[in-house]
Formats: sequence, C-alpha cells, structure tokens
Amino acid sequence: GFRFMSAGVVVRVPGKINLQLSVGPLEKTGFHEVVTVFQAVSLFDDVTVKSGAPGSGISIKISGENTDHIPVNEKNLAHRAVELMAKKYKVSSDLGIHLNKNIPVAGGMAGGSANAAGVIVGIDAIYNLGLKRDDMEKVGREIGSDVPFAISGGIAIGTGKGDQITPALSRGSYHWVLALSASGLSTPAVYNECDRLREGMSIIAPSVSEPLMQALRSGDAKELGKTLSNDLQAAACSLRPALRLILDVGMDYGALGGLVSGSGPTVAFLAEDEEHSLDLIVALKTSGVVGNVLHVGGPVHGARVIETL
Ligand code: ATP
Repeated sequence: GFRFMSAGVVVRVPGKINLQLSVGPLEKTGFHEVVTVFQAVSLFDDVTVKSGAPGSGISIKISGENTDHIPVNEKNLAHRAVELMAKKYKVSSDLGIHLNKNIPVAGGMAGGSANAAGVIVGIDAIYNLGLKRDDMEKVGREIGSDVPFAISGGIAIGTGKGDQITPALSRGSYHWVLALSASGLSTPAVYNECDRLREGMSIIAPSVSEPLMQALRSGDAKELGKTLSNDLQAAACSLRPALRLILDVGMDYGALGGLVSGSGPTVAFLAEDEEHSLDLIVALKTSGVVGNVLHVGGPVHGARVIETL
C-alpha cells in the first residue's frame, strides 16, 4: 500500500560503555554467554538515511577520524541493516547512508552496532513503518549483539550474547573520562586471548552484580566506581600493555573507578563531577600515556531521529 515517505532523516546514536561485563565459559558453539550492564554515553555518531533514485542501490559514505579502513560494502553493519530492513518490511533498499563518526572505531564502544541501530530507526522513520522498539530490537539482534542496546539507550542489563536487554533501575547521571587509543582492538582477538588466559581454569556462569545494581539504584557514584568490572580487561591489557599504565594513572589521580570498555582499547574513568573530570583529563594528558581524552556523560537516549530532511 501507499506509504508517506520523507526524503531523509538524521538519526543520532550513542556509544556505550559496559559497567559490568561478565563472560561465561567458551561454549561448543564458539560463543560465550555474557551478562553485561550497558550505559549509553554522550559520544554520538550521526547516521543520515536518504532515499535514492530507483535502482541506485545502497551507498555508504563515512566521515570522521580513523574511518578510512571501515568497509563501505556489505561488511558494514549499516549495510547489513539496510538489507535486513528492506527484506523484512518490503521497502526499497535504494538508500544513501552517511555515517558521521565520533565513536572511536574498534574502540569497544560498539560504534558499528550503533550505526546499524541508526539505520533501523532511520528506515522506520523515512518509510513511516510505525515499528515498535521491540520489533526494531529484534531486527538489530540479527545484525549484532550490541545493536538492541544502541536502539534502547539508557542503562540496561544484557544477557545471552548481550542482546537480550532489560532496562535497569538507576538514578542520576554520571561523569566519565574516556581515554581513547589511536588504534583499535579486534573483539574476536580479545575473546581468544581471554580464553587463552583462562586455560585450565573452571569458569562459572555469569550473573548480574547486585552491588552494581544497588549503586545504580542509589545513584551513588562512589559505590558505582567500586563495583565496575570487566572480564575482558585482563585480555585487552595483555594484548595492549599500555592500557595498564593508563588505568594506573587514572586511578592515581583519584578516579572513582576505571575499566576497559567492552573489548577495549577505550578506558573509561568515573569522575565525581564535571570539575573532577576536568582534573582527570589534565592528569591523563600530562602523563603522556594517552593521546585523546574526553569527558562524556551518561546515561543518554538510544538511537533517535534528530532531523527530517
Ligand atoms: P564491539 O565492541 O561492538 O565489538 P567496537 O566498538 O570495538 O565493536 P566497531 O567500531 O563497532 O568496534 O567495529 C569494529 C570493526 O567492525 C571495524 O574495524 C570495522 O572493520 C567493522 N565495521 C563494520 N561496520 C562498521 C561501522 N559502521 N563502523 C565502524 N566499524 C564497522
């Protein structure tokens, strides 16, 4: 039937940090069960979705730092999102996608997943599909385990592969200092290193950290800082020893907590307030162990349309 179509939309999508990332044993399928707690933070990519001429196909353009090596073909998660949405909802895939990236590439902040989330929300908007968030998260899950959270945003518990998400009760907002690395880490490589480091150990099934949930419910940043945890941190540090130095400097300068985000190499430090985060930034910059440092806040919204073209 006839559907109203707009020429295009801009969707703003957040990066995430994992406040908890607990990784279960390696399963026969090659996967690990995870329990994670995500927080969406104020570092955004903007995803423009524009309808193209009939037969023009899917075209992807990317701007931003360190984006030269990101594939623009079917390997791009945004490309996969277009194909899946077009097939599932019987709409044209003649779309021009522009990714304006601020989320570090291969940084452990799920930038690629966020781009897929942006495309899903953007296609829903331009074709006026009226999809529920649940439907969009279902499509997202087929693309990657971090996509559903990028659609929902906020703070959420992820189980399964991290793709089954439940919003978490939390109060207040938090100040983070991110130490970015110039070059990324491959997520599969970090998981492999994790398995290698765990050889001969017996690993129990992961579960949600009750102290972490309590800290979020009370909005107590000091408590939250003490309860941050990431089972992939040792592996990321093993592959990138400089991360240990960065973690040490941040903690020495009074961060309430610090951890590698996801599979790294981004390191996230929790600060008491904005002023404290500025102090931490100066300390990290003058230490010389880290290139790019920035202040972000969270939680923030998930993928949402900010402009209709
Ligand atoms: P995750 O933590 O979800 O594993 P990440 O945040 O570490 O991911 P991404 O930037 O999402 O890393 O992507 C890692 C790799 O995926 C890149 O090196 C790139 O080759 C590929 N990729 C595919 N699509 C995208 C995209 N839209 N943006 C960035 N990378 C993409």
